[in-house]
Amino acid sequence: MALAFKDLHWTKNIQVQQYLQPGTLEEALEMLANFEGKARVIAGGTDVVPQLRGRDIEVEALVDITRIPGMDGIIEDGENIVLGGLVTHAQVASSNLIRDKALLLKEGAGSVGSPQIRNVATVAGNLVSGQPAADTSIPLLALDATVTIAGKDGEREVPLTAFFLDKGKTVLDCTREILTRIQFRGLGGNEGGCYLRLAKRKALTLPMLVLAAVVNADKRKGIINRAAIAMGPVAPVPYRATNVEGFLKGAPISDETFISSANMGMQECTPRDSSLRGSCDYRQEMSKVFIQRGLKTAVSRIGS
Ligand SMILES: Cc1cc2nc3c(=O)[nH]c(=O)nc-3n(C[C@H](O)[C@H](O)[C@H](O)COP(=O)(O)OP(=O)(O)OC[C@H]3O[C@@H](n4cnc5c(N)ncnc54)[C@H](O)[C@@H]3O)c2cc1C
Repeated sequence: MALAFKDLHWTKNIQVQQYLQPGTLEEALEMLANFEGKARVIAGGTDVVPQLRGRDIEVEALVDITRIPGMDGIIEDGENIVLGGLVTHAQVASSNLIRDKALLLKEGAGSVGSPQIRNVATVAGNLVSGQPAADTSIPLLALDATVTIAGKDGEREVPLTAFFLDKGKTVLDCTREILTRIQFRGLGGNEGGCYLRLAKRKALTLPMLVLAAVVNADKRKGIINRAAIAMGPVAPVPYRATNVEGFLKGAPISDETFISSANMGMQECTPRDSSLRGSCDYRQEMSKVFIQRGLKTAVSRIGS
């Protein structure tokens, strides 16, 4: 179905000729293909609309995917949790399944913007926008999530560790492809996680630093089996502190371990000096605090 673009109230100052509303995934992919790179997917519109208004991007058509059925649910599939490509931050933040199996993602989704933004903005859109400190990208990266991308020639699965290419750039071409699913393994009984966010206010503010940690440990033996630490914005893309993760394999659960991890992680981070987000020195210092606090909190949540 096509709407007259001028009839939509939010289109002021936007130069797009067509607003298309496909009813199926196949129809959406066909529409994108017909525009040969000159149409773009829109879901919640919270990133696309400001970009169109600011003339940061130019397109002939927008393909609104919100009417495609079967993409707006959060389901458990064995050990895995699957988020459909249209799931919003509000859905994730209020899901009991996510609270029980991936608390760090609930904490990230609940930090996005404001209730109005969370009600329409999607997790998939957050990933595809490719910002280095996006509030759901960081916990999903720590959860080792993978995404399913549909195109005219079929589907492919991509781990998030290979999804982000550069600031604002991912392996997905949103003029031709659609992210249909996000999947990850829910946390088990010997795992805990947490999400930390440093910002000037509690709502509607850019994060200066975010960290998501997942720790798998044997608390009885006092040993960490493995850990995942994702951070942003400390590099052009959402970042995994792999050296620290290597150090933590088999390390004892102790304050010394957490302090050594924090010192090591701080060296890995290279945030830019930013008038909006703070100086490099300050954020490096805070990354040390966050790594230590994040690991300690994640361990304390194991079994709870
Ligand atoms: C006032 C305000 C405050 C904000 N605060 C935060 C914040 O605190 N933290 C944060 O992380 N973000 C924040 N954002 C950014 C934004 O809300 C998120 O990035 C949002 O999750 C994007 O989702 P969307 O559905 O609105 O995407 P859209 O704007 O519809 O699309 C974003 C991009 O993804 C593509 N796209 C969307 N869905 C798909 C899909 N399924 N398949 C393929 N391509 C797709 C689009 O083509 C576009 O390139 C804020 C935005 C605003 C306007």
